[in-house]
Amino acid sequence: MQVGTGKSILNGIAIAKIKIYKAPKLEIPQGIIDDPEAEIARLDEAVEKVIAEQNMLCEKAKITAGEDSAAIFEVHAMMMEDDDLMDAIKEIIENQKRSAEYAVDVAFDNQAEVFKSMDDPYMQARSADMYDLKQSTLNFLMGADPGAMQGTEPAILVAEDLAPSETVRLDKSLLVGMITREGSSNSHTAILARSMNTPALIQCKEINDSWDGKLAILDGYNSCVYVEPTEDLLKTLGDKMKADQAKLALLQELKGQPNTTIDGHTIKVYANIGGPSDIGAVQQNDADGVGLFRSEFVYLNSKEAPSEEDQFMAYKHVLESLAPRTVVIRTCDIGADKTIDYMKLDHEDNPALGLRALRICLTRKDFFKTQLRALLRASAFGHLAIMFPMVISVWELKKAKAILAECRLELEKEGYKMAPESDIEVGIMIETPAAVFMGDELAEEADFFSIGTNDLTQYTLAIDRQNAKLEPFLDTHHPAVLRAIKATIDAGHRHGIWVGICGELGADQALTETFLRMGIDELSVNAKSVLPLRKIIRSTDLSKPAANKLY
Ligand code: PEP
Ligand code: MG
Repeated sequence: MQVGTGKSILNGIAIAKIKIYKAPKLEIPQGIIDDPEAEIARLDEAVEKVIAEQNMLCEKAKITAGEDSAAIFEVHAMMMEDDDLMDAIKEIIENQKRSAEYAVDVAFDNQAEVFKSMDDPYMQARSADMYDLKQSTLNFLMGADPGAMQGTEPAILVAEDLAPSETVRLDKSLLVGMITREGSSNSHTAILARSMNTPALIQCKEINDSWDGKLAILDGYNSCVYVEPTEDLLKTLGDKMKADQAKLALLQELKGQPNTTIDGHTIKVYANIGGPSDIGAVQQNDADGVGLFRSEFVYLNSKEAPSEEDQFMAYKHVLESLAPRTVVIRTCDIGADKTIDYMKLDHEDNPALGLRALRICLTRKDFFKTQLRALLRASAFGHLAIMFPMVISVWELKKAKAILAECRLELEKEGYKMAPESDIEVGIMIETPAAVFMGDELAEEADFFSIGTNDLTQYTLAIDRQNAKLEPFLDTHHPAVLRAIKATIDAGHRHGIWVGICGELGADQALTETFLRMGIDELSVNAKSVLPLRKIIRSTDLSKPAANKLY
């Protein structure tokens, strides 16, 4: 038995034979050619095929991985249309009298080196795209079939790394697990593994060709792979895998069921999302709606401030796809740990206590209005709620609402369709002790409260959420935080508004019963936690005395 270790992307176990995923070794012709025109014609034909393939992959990725992931293939198609690159290839063919394959090999490598030497990490990462495109062009020139690399049997795929076009091309029905030597937690392998719920190991340095065809266990719980495992291991981990599968099947049975306790109390369980690419996860996990759309990801994914039109398209797509479910879109929460170059924010000594979130929006009115206009226009296409982050004072909420009303008036005059004002709830996040203490006054102005426990914990306990050294002091169940949550729920209910939790604590299963007993109306959690929470809620009986009081 051989053992490889790495970084696990997903807890879970996969058992199957290994398939080494390797591009066929192409022998690039090195000789001098005598018909450059014929070589250029071959090149043009191959380039056309690569562009068509990239466009096809783009369409496929839109369906399987979402718009954001698909965008890379549009960039690829554009790279293949780049005149400088094509001129460089043709120059080698014409002046050096070399084959199309040789010229492609040299020119793409040169361009990749140029990208690598750039300072901007985004541009550096484009070198991987160059190698990916070189391989595709060579495949077409030399008649190699990349599809054959995966084989026809379900397998644990082992690769050096996986390029975006490779991950999209893979036949997912044959993918039992994935192991790569390279890759980061945000690499394409990792993203694909998470979206498919497939165990995966990255940064596994032990992989080697001799593993091909051998039986293996990928143990995501312990971040390792056993090649040719012992009978004992096969039995133990095989049983664990079966237990996992049974649990998953049980959860699937909960789809379509209400989040109702044994004694008949129902709450909403929503999902948190970062953009249109998460729509599938909301649907697959049967969330009642979206309780937190972190709209700043629309800003973070853009190289310049996204226009009203760009934002409108993103929000409309989410609202339309998830209608009639409610989608709570939080206005831009930039600052603190989320910085953006084009915002040109001043350096601050204490960014977590600095100009962030709604504070930025209220000081940059035009920037704020661009988002509010996009949101109002998108409201015509689904059920929108708007949420403001990092509120500490009533005047901030009043001012934000006044700017929203100003946008509505402008859009009406411009003839845009919008949902009626009464259909769009406007709420706030409760993320600061100030907002907790001002709960009654804020509840008079807000349609709902959503408790951001990540920041509320940070500000209540004075523990920087970014600082790993403070872990020993961080008690996520600290009674002060739980009391702040209870006080917020009570304040909201005194004024007839609903109160939810959208911070990470909402998914903490050890607290679900406590939150239910506090009277929480909604929990918004990562999509994968929706069904497990539903299971707990449905097995809780609030008419029985609480097992323990945590606050
Ligand atoms: C929170 O603070 O709990 C929250 C949901 O917002 P974020 O994590 O994006 O700051
Ligand atoms: Mg927050």
